[in-house]
Amino acid sequence: MLECYVVTNHKKKKMLNNLKNLLINFHLEFKKFFAQRILGKKYVRTGKCNACGRCCREIYVRHSKSIIKDEEMFYKLKKLHFFYSYLKIIDKNDIGLVFKCTKLDEEKGICTAYKHRAVICRQYPQEEVFMMGGFISDDCGFDFVPIESFDKVFDKINKQYQTGKKTKNFIIMR
Ligand code: SF4
Ligand code: SF4
Repeated sequence: MLECYVVTNHKKKKMLNNLKNLLINFHLEFKKFFAQRILGKKYVRTGKCNACGRCCREIYVRHSKSIIKDEEMFYKLKKLHFFYSYLKIIDKNDIGLVFKCTKLDEEKGICTAYKHRAVICRQYPQEEVFMMGGFISDDCGFDFVPIESFDKVFDKINKQYQTGKKTKNFIIMR
């Protein structure tokens, strides 16, 4: 017997949405796999830049494992890389000197040196920001999703603990 299916617009929309979600999930899972297995990362970056300009407006410079705290040091650094010549000191606090980038069009929130911006700008924000004790602003359109859920990490460490692979200096709290 021949069966006839009528696909309504509503059903079509639902099917397309399901397909879209499937593709998004697949893309995210692939990104996670690539980031973890190939790049050795712990987070995968999602979202996109919304041109808020925050990361170009409030900058700390880290050089040789420490944050630049004095002007003299910064002026020496300026000779090392063109990116530093874009920066202007706007403040100083407990962390160090605070800079803003003179290449930012503050009104539009866009980079006026976009084609020639430094690698650090092209790659921002990276997981390493956290590793260095930094953070991304709440306004940032990017987000970082842990590749492994807390429960998975907890189970893995717990297993290592039980099999004696991890013993000292390790406290499990839940
Ligand atoms: S060069 Fe452009 S992207 Fe880099 S900090 Fe300056 S304004 Fe931002
Ligand atoms: S803080 Fe994030 S969203 Fe804002 S300009 Fe920088 S990268 Fe883009």
